[in-house]
Amino acid sequence: MNRIIPLQSAPAGCDSVAELNVLKERGQREVFCGLTGIIWLHRKIQDAFFLVVGSRTCAHLVQSAAGVMIFAEPRFATAIIDDHDLAGLADANEELDRVVNQLLTRRPDIKMLFLVGSCPSEVIKLDLSRAAERLSKAYTPRVRILNYSGSGIETTFTQGEDACLAALAKEIPQARAEHAAQDDVDLLVVGCLADVVEDQFSRLFTELGLSSFAFFPPRRSGDLPKVGPNTRYLLVQPFLTDTARVLEELGAKRIAAPFPLGVEGTEGWLAAAANTFGVPAERFEKVIAPKRQRAMLALDRQRQILNGRSIFFFPDSQLEIPLARFLHRELGMTLTEVGMPYIHRQHLAQEIALLPKDTVLSEGQDVEKQLDRCRVARPDMVVCGLGLANPLEAEGITTKWSIELVFTPIQGFDQAADLAELFARPLVRKTKLAA
Ligand code: SF4
Repeated sequence: MNRIIPLQSAPAGCDSVAELNVLKERGQREVFCGLTGIIWLHRKIQDAFFLVVGSRTCAHLVQSAAGVMIFAEPRFATAIIDDHDLAGLADANEELDRVVNQLLTRRPDIKMLFLVGSCPSEVIKLDLSRAAERLSKAYTPRVRILNYSGSGIETTFTQGEDACLAALAKEIPQARAEHAAQDDVDLLVVGCLADVVEDQFSRLFTELGLSSFAFFPPRRSGDLPKVGPNTRYLLVQPFLTDTARVLEELGAKRIAAPFPLGVEGTEGWLAAAANTFGVPAERFEKVIAPKRQRAMLALDRQRQILNGRSIFFFPDSQLEIPLARFLHRELGMTLTEVGMPYIHRQHLAQEIALLPKDTVLSEGQDVEKQLDRCRVARPDMVVCGLGLANPLEAEGITTKWSIELVFTPIQGFDQAADLAELFARPLVRKTKLAA
């Protein structure tokens, strides 16, 4: 029998979230909406198009966040809901059908169309799931049409990815129906990864001896994996609650693991998969050891800058707990407060076990109260959304934009030093400016 592969260093922190001091808050929030996810989703699913059904504000948000697309054939756009629609003077469904028809006639390269709901479409109660069903009938099999909500009414920005992937996962039964159960993929890696990171993990899984694995979402919308009771899935992001639920409904089971951020998180994540599929401990060590050693060496420079510095997380990306674990355990930073929009107790259990017992976690947000706590703590660095960063910088507090952490490839051994660098750079800049 195979020896269980241990984590590089044993957890020394909390046994459960119940042991931590969790401050629950409800009040005014400072977060982006789920439309933001389109920026990285459209890069990942290369034959999909994202049609936001929203206002000029929504169009402005998406366009300014992804301005470079002006130079290319875009893969997202906004069907504008204007005053006519809001006043109920026009049939929004007819308008939508017309826009979709125009788009699909002009762009035969589109194989999957996502209708993305927004605050305005929800306010006028435009039923996009029925619209997607109606339009699918007209355009199947050439184009599949799905819908999800990117509205800012109840979400934080990373939930846009979760909603999109959950909608896509609901398409899996159709792909599976054409195959026998033994064709189910063994390991499904779930969550958007930059292609370069996906390729690195792909090589690592192969070196570990795994042959039946797939990444979700796929790069081409038609390449949906076969998922069923024989499938074990591994999350790369802590914010994929709805997607995980759909996969569980298909019979897949989650592999409990920390998230692949930093050296320790990446090793723990790979070890969880390796243990599930019976990879011998010796083989695991042989494959991982050189990568671990190189990555740890690469962290030395940033550790000298970050060690002993304090950090405060405002709730935004939902990556806060894994990031805090990495910055504390591998780079020596002190955690003053770790805020998260929502703490998924099961998905984050392995991460929480690695946090120090006295970590102050906050869940939800009452932004004014949190700003007061931050000013009292005077941390060396604050991780927050764009809306808070400028005012805090004006008060002399160094900030890091949390959204940058989602746009940048940060997972895996080879990216550990790049991730640390994202935090070291603002402190170095501040020191240079003060000199
Ligand atoms: S979906 Fe809502 S929060 Fe997002 S840009 Fe549109 S109006 Fe603003």
